[in-house]
Amino acid sequence: MTAPTQRPSDLVPLSERLVYLRVLRAVLAAITVIDAALVPHPLLESFAAISSIALGYVLVSWALEAIWRVRGQRGKWVFGVALVIDGFYLAGATYLTGGSAGPLRYLVFVYLAAVTLLGSYRSGLKLALWQSLMQWAVYVGQRSKVLSGFPNSSAAHSEWHRLITFTLAVSALTFATATLAAVNERELRRRRFELEQLAQMGQNLEDANDPLSVGDVLLEALNDTFGFRRMALFEVVDNEPRMLTARGLLDATVSDFSLGENSVLRVANERRETLVVPEIDRAVDPWLAAIMPNARNVAVVPLVADGVVGVLVAETGSRGVGIGSRVITTMERYAGHTALAIRNANLLARVQQMAVTDGLTELANRRAFDRSLDRELSRAARTDGRLSVVLLDIDHFKLLNDNHGHVVGDTVLKQIAHALQTCAREYDTIARYGGEEFAAVLPGCSSGLALQVAERLRLAVQDAASDVQVTASAGVATYPYDGIDVAGLLNAADQALYASKRAGRNQVRSAEQARSGSGSPVSAG
Ligand code: GH3
Ligand code: MG
Ligand code: MG
Repeated sequence: MTAPTQRPSDLVPLSERLVYLRVLRAVLAAITVIDAALVPHPLLESFAAISSIALGYVLVSWALEAIWRVRGQRGKWVFGVALVIDGFYLAGATYLTGGSAGPLRYLVFVYLAAVTLLGSYRSGLKLALWQSLMQWAVYVGQRSKVLSGFPNSSAAHSEWHRLITFTLAVSALTFATATLAAVNERELRRRRFELEQLAQMGQNLEDANDPLSVGDVLLEALNDTFGFRRMALFEVVDNEPRMLTARGLLDATVSDFSLGENSVLRVANERRETLVVPEIDRAVDPWLAAIMPNARNVAVVPLVADGVVGVLVAETGSRGVGIGSRVITTMERYAGHTALAIRNANLLARVQQMAVTDGLTELANRRAFDRSLDRELSRAARTDGRLSVVLLDIDHFKLLNDNHGHVVGDTVLKQIAHALQTCAREYDTIARYGGEEFAAVLPGCSSGLALQVAERLRLAVQDAASDVQVTASAGVATYPYDGIDVAGLLNAADQALYASKRAGRNQVRSAEQARSGSGSPVSAG
C-alpha cells in the first residue's frame, strides 16, 4: 500500500490533509458504536466488545499518525500500515454489525471517496482493491465457518451477489472521484501558476520605469504563461496607436503605417474591449497583416488605465481552436496591471520633463542649465576641452511691459525663446536663465566660435517673428580663460553682458573684451 507522498506542488500539504483523515477515522468509529447501540444484530458479540474495538481502532490509527509525524519521510511505511488497518477495521465492523444487511458497509464508500480526494488517484484505486479484498475475506471466512456462518446456502448466495455489486460500485466510485479530483486539481494548479506569473510580472514591473521596459515585461509574462508565438504592443498617444515593442514579428518592409477606420487596433481602443479575431483582415489592417502574416486566432486587448494607454495584439497560432475565455480573462488581468504601469511611467516622464522645463517658454529651466553647465565643465576639465557660456538679456524689456502690458511681454518671451531654440546646435543647451534673460552652454566652443554663436543668437532675437520687435545684449565667457568653475564663468559672462549694455546694447562682448575695457563689440545694431 503506497501512502500519498508529499509533492512540492501540492495545494494543501499532506500533514494538513491528514487532519481530515484523523477526524474521518473518529467518525467511522463513532458510527460503528451508535449502530451497535441502536440496532440489535444477530452477530453482535456485545456492545462493550464492539465499542472497545472501535476505540482501539481510533487510538491505534492516531498513534500511527503521531509516529508518522515524528519520523517524517522515514516514517512513510507507518502511514501505509494505518491504511491497511482501516481495511481490517471496516471489514470487521461491517461483519460484527450485521454484514451486508447492516449499514456499515456504506462507510467504505465514504472512506474511499475521502481518501481518494485527500490522497492521490493511485492510492484511491489501491485502497478500493484492499477494502474489497477485506470484505471478500470475511465472506470466505463465513463460508468456511471460521466466522459465524450463513444460516443457509441461499443467504450465502445472496451475500456473494451483494459483494460482487459492492466491489464494482466501490471501484466505479473511486475511479470517478479520482478522475474528477484530478481535473479540479489540474485547473487549480493552472490558476495558481497564472497567479504566480502575475505576481512575478508585478515584481518585474516595479523595476520598469519607462513604457518600453513595461511593455517588454508584459510580453515576457505572456510568453512564459501561454507561449504566444507572435505579439505586438502598441502605445496609444492622442488616440493613435503606435508600435512600442514586439515579439516574433516579421521585419516586413511596410510603406504605409496608417491605420484604417476599422482597424482592430482602433476598434479595440474605441470600444475599450477585447476583440478576438480568427485572422487579420488584409483589407482592413494591411500593415498588421504584413508584419504578422497568416496570423490565426488573434486577441486584441486594450490596456485601460483611466483611458486606453495601449493595445496588445497576441497570436496563439493554433489553427481551428479559438482562444479560451480563461486565457482572455488572464490576458486582460495582465493588461490591466501593465496599463497602470505604463500610465505611471508616462506620468513620471512628464514630471521629470516638467522639472527641467521652463513653464512659459518651454526652454530648459535654470535647474537644467545649472546641471548642464556642471556636467560640461567637468567633461571639459577631464578632456582638456573648451566650453563657453553665453548670457543674453533683452534690451529695455521693462519698457515693453510698460507700453504693451505683461501679457504681450510674455508672448514676446515665448517667441524669442522659439527663435533662440531654432538656432541652437544639437548639443548646446539654451535655457531661460530667469526673467527676460537667456543663457546658453556651448560645449567644445572656443572663445572665437562662441562669439559667433552669441552673435547668431543676438540676430535671432532681433529678427524673431515677435509681436513687438526687441533686441538683446549678450556676454560670452570661455573655460578656462575666463573662469575655471561655474561661479567664475558665470561671473565673467555677466561682466561681458554688462559691458555690452554699457556700450549701447544690442551687441555681444567677450569677457576678455570686458576686462580690457576696450575692444570693439562684435557687432552693433
Ligand atoms: P535692460 O536690460 O536693457 O537694461 O533693460 P530692462 O528693462 O530689460 O531691464 P531689466 O533687465 O533689469 O528688466 C527686466 C524686466 O523684465 C523686468 C520685468 O518687468 C521684466 N520681466 C522679467 N520677467 C518677465 C516675465 O516673465 N514676463 C514679463 N512680461 N516680463 C518680465
Ligand atoms: Mg534682465
Ligand atoms: Mg533686460
